[in-house]
Amino acid sequence: MADTIFSRIMAREISADIVFEDDDALAFRDIDAKAPTHVLVIPKRHIATVADASHENAAMLGSLLVTAARVASDLGLSEDGYRLVINHGRDGGQTVEHLHIHILGGRPMAWPPG
Ligand code: 5GP
Repeated sequence: MADTIFSRIMAREISADIVFEDDDALAFRDIDAKAPTHVLVIPKRHIATVADASHENAAMLGSLLVTAARVASDLGLSEDGYRLVINHGRDGGQTVEHLHIHILGGRPMAWPPG
């Protein structure tokens, strides 16, 4: 397992406000929230970035997306709406090398993003 901030959160070496967990995924609040609700959903199986994904990862990634929608719903975001974001690379703004879906909600989102 690659050593990242997120693997340490998964191992409970670093504390986080965990809002959901099952065998495959963990969801916790972002430490530097960019919206009233900002949660990160990560797969327990390490994959560094979406650009590394292959069709072998398709079921896992599909399941992660369904989990993100379920977590957003559990957090009360479904009625007003929310945004799911996956960043990749320098221009995409990825800073942690463990694939994650951002759930952003609780305010209107601008489009296109800056
Ligand atoms: P990225 O920029 O890679 O798409 O998103 C990484 C996210 O992880 C950022 O929004 C950042 O605020 C969040 N983050 C970084 N370190 C920690 C941490 O130690 N705990 C939590 N909860 N979030 C973190």
